[in-house]
Amino acid sequence: MADIYKNFINGVWKESASGETFERRNPATGELVGVYTKSTAADVDEAVEAAATAFKSWRLYPAPKRGEILFKAARLLEERKEQLAHEMTEEMGKVLDETRGDVQEAIDMTYYMAGEGRRMFGDTVQSEMRNKFQMSVRKPLGVVGLITPWNFPMAIPSWKMMPALIAGNTVVIKPGSHVPKSTINLVSILQEAGIPDGVVNIVLGTGGEVGDALMQHPDVPVISFTGSTETGKTISLAAAAQNKRLTLEMGGKNAVIVNEDANLDLAAESILWGAFGTTGQRCTATSRVVVHKSVQQDLVDRLAKGALALKLGNGLDAGVQVGPQVSESQRATTVKYVEIGKNEGAELVVGGNIATGGDLDKGWFHEPTIFNNVRRDMRIAQEEIFGPVVSLIPFDDLDDAFDIVNGVQYGLSAAIFTQDVNNAFRAMRDIYTGILYINAGTTGAEIHLPFGGTKATGNGHREAGTAALDFYTEWQAVYVDFSGKLQRAQIDPVN
Ligand code: NAD
Repeated sequence: MADIYKNFINGVWKESASGETFERRNPATGELVGVYTKSTAADVDEAVEAAATAFKSWRLYPAPKRGEILFKAARLLEERKEQLAHEMTEEMGKVLDETRGDVQEAIDMTYYMAGEGRRMFGDTVQSEMRNKFQMSVRKPLGVVGLITPWNFPMAIPSWKMMPALIAGNTVVIKPGSHVPKSTINLVSILQEAGIPDGVVNIVLGTGGEVGDALMQHPDVPVISFTGSTETGKTISLAAAAQNKRLTLEMGGKNAVIVNEDANLDLAAESILWGAFGTTGQRCTATSRVVVHKSVQQDLVDRLAKGALALKLGNGLDAGVQVGPQVSESQRATTVKYVEIGKNEGAELVVGGNIATGGDLDKGWFHEPTIFNNVRRDMRIAQEEIFGPVVSLIPFDDLDDAFDIVNGVQYGLSAAIFTQDVNNAFRAMRDIYTGILYINAGTTGAEIHLPFGGTKATGNGHREAGTAALDFYTEWQAVYVDFSGKLQRAQIDPVN
């Protein structure tokens, strides 16, 4: 019997009293990756209680000292990057280069937020009265509940945890059920770096039970969620009922415009990476290519050639460029959308099938798939697929291309390939997404700029950068009157 990976509550690794477990298998090989304790609402209660108690002292621990713990954690992450990436590929499937990138994002975010321990600036401003001083200061919020998905197993937990911690909050995290190990690894490193007991807690289990209990808990005033728009909406309704502070990072239907003046080699290379990297399972994956009719055939030829040349396989094997999908059901969704595309009359250029043969039969592989001459209103051009499928939609006029890009419910990431600076500036003005790339594909965010999307992708907040601190802190305006007399703002004259 394999060891059971446990919850981390109040500084102690412990199993749920439920006695139940769940397992995770490598999506490329079917081999067992780990057996995990399956928690209940009672475990969430215990973790929240520990976090609430720890908050009383953590909020008073000086922020630069909190930063020193994060610096130490960042160094440990750096030292163990290779091992962490290796384990992430085994549990989630994306290729080693990409899991190294995922860990690197966690390293970057941890260093960045460690540094914020000596910043977290507020404002001092002049008063309209004499002998009065005023300033704004950031304050922590309390116990923060974090609910994370499986596609960036270490990056996303770090985006949430590090700003929350540096600001003086305590944390209970429920990771995606496919990827508990990467979050356990992150939490273990924080423990080793000296995070006090109760400041970080992890509870493993299902969204319906553990996620919901965390979400509903009256002593968790803040929830940060990344996942599907469907789950996000449920969480949003529940959070509203308790007036919780909530950040939602949800689905995307990201588009690349390839204009007639684009560098086609660069555009094609970037689209192949954006559409088929992480097997299309990125919230910022390139799902639509809005291409000028004059270069459409040329681009399709390049993409088809590139897609057919991609090597599928176990992400740990050298030379493999595309791993499996994360699960059988995620691949079934891809299969479903390929059928929908065919029935809608889209032209299948390459792919379209489950990938088989040799070791591919052991995992959840799907061929990189390209549809051409897709209409903007087709379901494959509107709905998030989260698999290796990309749709080409032709256009004549650049304003119409902007309408196509904006004409979906989501608003996460978009890109334009053009050699004309005027077109680049028109795109910046007219495309309504949270992230926009000029002459680069739809993926590749760096951790010190705000990350998030418009419309059904989010709820107006942003992760990463200093914007993250706005979510994890409350502003307090402080007025210090040292005049020794009543001074009525807006009423008394100043002599
Ligand atoms: P998901 O919504 O199925 O699950 C996300 C998390 O929510 C998991 O931990 C899950 O267990 C939990 N959960 C499920 N039901 C719950 C409930 N009723 N109450 C509380 N928690 C619940 O999403 P997923 O399949 O893990 O991730 C893929 C989705 O995430 C895609 O839609 C993708 O676009 C999105 N995503 C968005 C971003 C972004 O920043 N915008 C980043 C990565 C992924």
